Amino acid sequence: MPWPAKATEMTVPPPVTPPPVTPITLVGIGKIARDQHLPAIAASRDFRLVAAVSRNETVPGVANFTDFDRFLAEGPAGAVSLCTPPAVRTAMALKAIAAGRDLMIEKPPAATLGEIETIISAARAAGTALFATWHSRHAAAVAPARDWLAGRRIDRVAITWREDVRRWHPGQDWIWQPGGFGVFDPGINALSVLTEILPGPIHVDAARLEVPANAATPIGVTLDMTARGSVPVSADFDWRQQGPQTWDILIETEGRRLVLGQGGAAMTLDGAAVPVTPTDGEYPALYRRFAQIIATRAIDADTAPLRICADACLRGRQVTTDPFHDRA
Ligand code: NAP
Repeated sequence: MPWPAKATEMTVPPPVTPPPVTPITLVGIGKIARDQHLPAIAASRDFRLVAAVSRNETVPGVANFTDFDRFLAEGPAGAVSLCTPPAVRTAMALKAIAAGRDLMIEKPPAATLGEIETIISAARAAGTALFATWHSRHAAAVAPARDWLAGRRIDRVAITWREDVRRWHPGQDWIWQPGGFGVFDPGINALSVLTEILPGPIHVDAARLEVPANAATPIGVTLDMTARGSVPVSADFDWRQQGPQTWDILIETEGRRLVLGQGGAAMTLDGAAVPVTPTDGEYPALYRRFAQIIATRAIDADTAPLRICADACLRGRQVTTDPFHDRA
């Protein structure tokens, strides 16, 4: 007697549907595109790079365009990831959304709050997915620190973000131009972590912005802020740091001292290192999140870090300092 057909069928595993792979185009092939986006996309199961748009650079093996409008008109379909500087990003974002493209944008999400609100509103009207990224929020120790702090009384926060601009931003003239953010460009990373680990309102009480005589944006900023109406938060952003570089956030809570160090990659509690589960990196996490955002047609665009920068400019005193030259 033959085996019942049903029994044979039962032994066949159900077909596995692979997750959809979204074609994606990278725009603005500069430092961060090469350092992080290209490797993250190459390793991604969710995205396949199909094109690059850059006036002076190309990426091998994909369609290359020097003009963004031409790419939108003639280039391959799919999502778009913008790595251009913030001052030119909004016009590109609005064109991409108008063309129906799902969009991921580097930080800071735009040059002003008004611009990012326009981008959000356009994506909402068009029904396109939008992800305004904050890569530092995906550093390995940020989520553990946020979880450890949840429910504790926060007494004081002090941010020290001091780095050498010549080392990290060589030849990037745009950072000194209006809309280029100056030292707020790295400083906003600290603010993105602050607003992740300390949910709730934060307002700026005072700010000092040191602007080189030959620049439009600050090279040094100090901020006095208040979180949740009563918690003092200070920030010290400086681009003139020689030698060791510092990206620390100290949080004093109920007699304990938590320090998020190395830009959120490491954590100490009362001076002792806290083991943190290693991750595969901030940018692979960003692209996984972008895939979820596309799948759910969502908009993820938190403006809280940008609001603090804007408030610092409104509240602060601007001081002119010595001219600064990128090439010493
Ligand atoms: P970048 O090296 O200057 O690269 C940006 C690229 O955008 C340029 O190479 C340029 O390529 C293109 N671009 C288009 N229009 C431009 C314009 N009007 N002015 C200047 N460039 C223009 O800058 P980046 O360091 O990659 O930073 C880009 C964004 O990523 C910034 O928002 C930054 O905050 C963010 N980010 C940077 C880092 C980092 O470590 N550098 C880390 C995280 C996030 P073409 O000339 O070929 O068009």
